[in-house]
Amino acid sequence: AKSLGKRNFQFYAPTMTHEAMRRASVERQIRIALEEGGFTVEYQPKIGVRSRRLIGFEALVRLKPVDGRPPLSPVEFIPIAEDSGLIVPLGTWVLNEACRQNKAWQNAGYLPVPVSVNVSAVQFRSSEFAATVRQALKSTGLNPAYLDLEITETTIMQNFEHGVTLMRQLQAIGVGVSIDDFGTGSSSLSKLKLFSADTLKIDRSFIRDLPHDRDDAAITSTIIELARNLDQKVVAEGVETQEQLAFLQEHGCDEAQGFFFSAPLSAQRFEALYGKQW
Ligand code: C2E
Ligand code: CA
Ligand code: CA
Ligand code: CA
Repeated sequence: AKSLGKRNFQFYAPTMTHEAMRRASVERQIRIALEEGGFTVEYQPKIGVRSRRLIGFEALVRLKPVDGRPPLSPVEFIPIAEDSGLIVPLGTWVLNEACRQNKAWQNAGYLPVPVSVNVSAVQFRSSEFAATVRQALKSTGLNPAYLDLEITETTIMQNFEHGVTLMRQLQAIGVGVSIDDFGTGSSSLSKLKLFSADTLKIDRSFIRDLPHDRDDAAITSTIIELARNLDQKVVAEGVETQEQLAFLQEHGCDEAQGFFFSAPLSAQRFEALYGKQW
């Protein structure tokens, strides 16, 4: 069996071919899904830590299942969409769909709250991005105050000069900006201040082992304090337990998001829970 294993290994070598074929197949899936309406958006609530009320929700893209098979996760297909440039049309689609859905809920009489949409580094770098945002608001009729853009700390710091310019354009439009996965990049504090986002979103990796891990507890409480000093709101992502929530409440975190409240839900399931006390 051992020698067969070796032969197999040689047969499949070089491994890159396999990986390249997988990527090509995922890219083809993305292309087809874009053409045929194969994507959907799920929504995950953001809850006020003190009020326990819905104060926003994040839009997360999904591939629809084909032939009943479980679809690829965005963790797998987003990087391939980025490398192939398909993230630009995909990101524009998600943005428009999220704005349309939020406006529809407002029209139906639900409490108006912002929808947060993730922005890839590839979209962020594009000179078209502000125009794309303006267009999505215009065509859906959503008030810019009810759109928030989540941009990772790494994306911002890697494109800082452009980022500051883009940030001014977005602020002129009137949309909110959140720094996603905060704490995992390498912000300098002076740059952070210059960028002047509305919200810091503490990365899930710091929340996971709260309240027991002393380093994570120190980092989380420091980020909360930093946000307060910079007049920014602060959201914790990946909140799964009552204990984590209690820690966040004790340290004055504004908002929380995670499985403790709800996983991301289809629009239909989200709507059924929209008005509830969380
Ligand atoms: P992210 O922006 O950090 O999104 C949060 C991820 O954490 C989501 O995974 C969400 O389902 C998951 N999550 C939420 N609460 C919990 C929790 O309590 N515990 C744990 N363990 N996980 C939780 P998802 O939907 O698989 O998305 C993964 C990543 O893919 C996102 O990370 C984001 O970087 C990217 N992504 C998803 N949708 C989009 C999109 O429309 N555009 C772009 N550019 N990226 C997207
Ligand atoms: Ca996000
Ligand atoms: Ca994150
Ligand atoms: Ca992320």
